Amino acid sequence: MPKTLHAIHPARPAHWVGDGFFVRSAFTYDDLAAELSPFLLLDHGAPREFAPTERRLGVGPHPHRGFETVTIAFQGEIEHRDSSGGGGVIGPGDVQWMTAGNGIVHEEFHSERFARTGGTLEMVQLWVNLPRRSKRAPARYQALAAQAIPRIALPGGAGELRVISGSFDGQRGPAESFTPIDLWSLTLNDGGAVSLAFTEGHSSALLVLEGTLELDGERSAREGELVVFSRAGSECRVRARGAARVLALSGEPIDEPLVGYGPFVMNTMAEIREAIADFQSGRMGTLAPR
Ligand code: MN
Repeated sequence: MPKTLHAIHPARPAHWVGDGFFVRSAFTYDDLAAELSPFLLLDHGAPREFAPTERRLGVGPHPHRGFETVTIAFQGEIEHRDSSGGGGVIGPGDVQWMTAGNGIVHEEFHSERFARTGGTLEMVQLWVNLPRRSKRAPARYQALAAQAIPRIALPGGAGELRVISGSFDGQRGPAESFTPIDLWSLTLNDGGAVSLAFTEGHSSALLVLEGTLELDGERSAREGELVVFSRAGSECRVRARGAARVLALSGEPIDEPLVGYGPFVMNTMAEIREAIADFQSGRMGTLAPR
């Protein structure tokens, strides 16, 4: 049974995250968290030119608790460093899957090399909620290199699909997640049609990163627009009008109370207060000086 097209949410204005990432939030936990659970937030930094600089551009040390952040680099390089000792540089096609879990302090900057040479940066950051039983899991960092991410040629020369998490057509992505999550990155050729088989009952959405996607003969979604499907059903057929790039996300809903406060997403307000106190007293760790 096909999924039903629920809504096409318009692109929102972009805003700066720190001084390094100019992103549009496709959604945040303040609006679509219930509908799109387990997903909490999705930011897209569309391709943007940065001049060479000696300065570090990005976001300085800040905490997270209770969820995971997934960062995908499409162009340029991003460097991450955290209080658990994790860190590294991700470049085009690479993904970092960070479990904040019980708490982490990290920083996110353009890599030194990218800052020095300048160039085009394009990235996505997705926040994935953790179920109550896993919110205090130890922090963890998965570096998923582009070569480790299966690339699948789509039938009929429609384009290519990369399996970051979950599986597509029998091929599994490298990410380990706490709850079942499909995360696919698609590059479609002009006119390329693809049938996406999501899991029945999962929250499923498409973010158009570039180009235009025809959805059901009548409706289409343009760059920056978020397409949300019904949980019921599994199949979604889409077709690219012109070359297009799309991020597909689908996951098992976590139907638990959710309280979000900036970088913390927990189940109760008391847990938020505890998170703030734990961060302020250094219990989420500190970042060694560079
Ligand atoms: Mn962060």
